[in-house]
Amino acid sequence: MHPTTQLLQEARDRVTFPTLELTKLIYGNDEIYETFMKAQKIIASEPSIRNHPDYHNWGRKEQIIKSYEKIRIMHQHFNLANAAHWAPMLSLFQGTTPSAVSFGMTVPALRFLGTDEQFNLWGPKFLTMEIVAAYAQTEIGHGSDVQNLETTATYDSQTNDFVLHTPSVSAVKFWPGELGFLSNYALVYAKLVFNGKNKGVHPFMVQIRDNSTHKPLKGVVVGDIGPKLGYSTKDNGFLAFENYRIPLNSLLARYVRIENGQFSRHGNEKISYASMMVSRQLIIFIYPRMAAQSLTVAIRYSITRQQFTNDKGVENSVLEYQTQQDKLLPRLATCYGMIFAGLRIAELVDDNFHRVQKKDFSTLQQSHAILSALKAWSSQWVVDTAEWCRLSCGGHGFAHYSGIPAIYFDTAPNVTLEGENQVMYLQVARYLLKVLQYVEKNPEKVPFYFNFVLHIKETLANQSTDFGQLLKLTLTLQLISVAKKIKDSMGTGKNFQQIWNEVVGVQLLSVAQRYAEYFTYLVFQEYISTANQSVKEVLQQLCDLYSIQVILDNPNTLIESGRINVEQFKQLNETKIELLSKLKPQALGLVEAFNFSDNALRTCIGCHDGKPYEYIYEWATKENSVNIKGVPQAVNDLMGTKIKARL
Ligand SMILES: Cc1cc2nc3c(=O)[nH]c(=O)nc-3n(C[C@H](O)[C@H](O)[C@H](O)COP(=O)(O)OP(=O)(O)OC[C@H]3O[C@@H](n4cnc5c(N)ncnc54)[C@H](O)[C@@H]3O)c2cc1C
Repeated sequence: MHPTTQLLQEARDRVTFPTLELTKLIYGNDEIYETFMKAQKIIASEPSIRNHPDYHNWGRKEQIIKSYEKIRIMHQHFNLANAAHWAPMLSLFQGTTPSAVSFGMTVPALRFLGTDEQFNLWGPKFLTMEIVAAYAQTEIGHGSDVQNLETTATYDSQTNDFVLHTPSVSAVKFWPGELGFLSNYALVYAKLVFNGKNKGVHPFMVQIRDNSTHKPLKGVVVGDIGPKLGYSTKDNGFLAFENYRIPLNSLLARYVRIENGQFSRHGNEKISYASMMVSRQLIIFIYPRMAAQSLTVAIRYSITRQQFTNDKGVENSVLEYQTQQDKLLPRLATCYGMIFAGLRIAELVDDNFHRVQKKDFSTLQQSHAILSALKAWSSQWVVDTAEWCRLSCGGHGFAHYSGIPAIYFDTAPNVTLEGENQVMYLQVARYLLKVLQYVEKNPEKVPFYFNFVLHIKETLANQSTDFGQLLKLTLTLQLISVAKKIKDSMGTGKNFQQIWNEVVGVQLLSVAQRYAEYFTYLVFQEYISTANQSVKEVLQQLCDLYSIQVILDNPNTLIESGRINVEQFKQLNETKIELLSKLKPQALGLVEAFNFSDNALRTCIGCHDGKPYEYIYEWATKENSVNIKGVPQAVNDLMGTKIKARL
């Protein structure tokens, strides 16, 4: 057997649990798993859409064109309107997936904010891609602060329609995905002006390009905003309107309406949260799986990569080094926690949708808070993990051929889009403080995943160093501390907003992140309790490693409060090192349970048969178009010139 293939095979033989049992847990249900496996096969077997080693040498235009071809072919095989179908595919392609914004953001907004008639009018056309619609909210001047958007939609009572207008450069829509080239419609968020009065920002379904020529309609200025940090296949766009008339029916009218010349509001406006939930939920569901891809590459490579000889004269796999285990295994543990959290959140969001449709808003705020916390925490963690995986592969990790750099830059925007992370955390902190206030007067209102606030006294009195207890204690102490600081600051002459923005901001972010970590711990434990006996032990080891790492990353609260002494702290470090040793022989099984094909990993250093050197040399010499065309002639031109040195 080839020597590095043998190293991987021996590592496979050392795994002591059935990987298939974990695979079942990771994909949650048979439909998602089968769709995922089928998509991997189709992408790998269709030559025109298979992931290509030379992809990162291509120009942006060629990359975009190939991404459209991918989506055209995938439409022939799957119902892309069904998130369970397309969500798992997003991690399998090179580049981003066209129409994901249209399906993942615009369609849910239409469903929740439009009337049934409006949804029936436009909804079916999304299925056939007769309509592709960008979600056009952000402007050059404002993103997070939606209430200060400047685009206006002025109601004209004479003609019973709206005039959509961009009054300044800062009002130009900027960043919406799929706006640059692909969309023929946009869901435009604009300030509704009625009888000269500002009625707030509302969504309008607007045609922006011609049905037959796909050219911008008169009064519409639209295009692509230019190159970014990766993300090259997404045509993020700009959009401006010059007194552009749109029909009355453009206003999504489930909650606001203009009828018989009168403006009216209906139902609960909090519903607007619900439409953002789909895309945030997908961020939590999909992207930890891209971290799983980078971990698969890094762990396989770390087994086949050998550096320095041991006392028996044999070269060590770099995964034998404790420091390498420390780079990768706590992240692998967290990855499992995040994948489970993503699955649980999908259930919570689904349950919330059913309630909202029956006008039951009782779970809306808690779902929003959990989603926001996990969106913020997981998106930053995924990017950091890609970077650690790259570093753990040394020089070869820096090559696009490793597959890892693209994971870094294709996931990096998630920190900012769909709610900038810090802004998300602040909303979570606000909700945590609200839940804390329920304790005295309305304890029955405290939702299940926040019930730690009902046990504050017991938590503070509990001396146990059980990991779950320490996570809960940290969260509780931080929440009490920030609530007290706000209360104490009220007497200093500052108003609430000043205190929020200037006194406690950093603490608020911290407590919100502690909540995300604690939630993940709770869900991890839930999954362990229902898992097959054969994988319970390894899952518990992962959960313990996850929890210890979280505690060690932010021990200040426990140390400052005196709740953990130096000896206990040392013991936590010792336990972590023991867990690294226990999990090292299981690491390959833990990543192979994700079941990514070589094509899906876009790698030559982390393939299933473990021959990194042969493949990287082959790709560099045979697939690398820079060696083949264009450049050699330019070199001849340069070297053939007599350069006069300027001395
Ligand atoms: C790749 C990509 C795709 C996108 N796709 C879309 C799309 O499809 N549709 C769309 O409408 N938009 C889209 N956007 C825009 C995106 O939603 C916004 O950029 C995002 O919401 C952040 O808003 P901002 O740019 O205004 O950042 P800002 O809010 O200006 O953030 C700048 C800094 O200010 C801080 N900050 C802001 N407010 C506060 C506060 N209250 N307290 C403390 N700190 C604060 C932030 O934490 C950040 O550090 C996309 C953006 C990117 C990068």
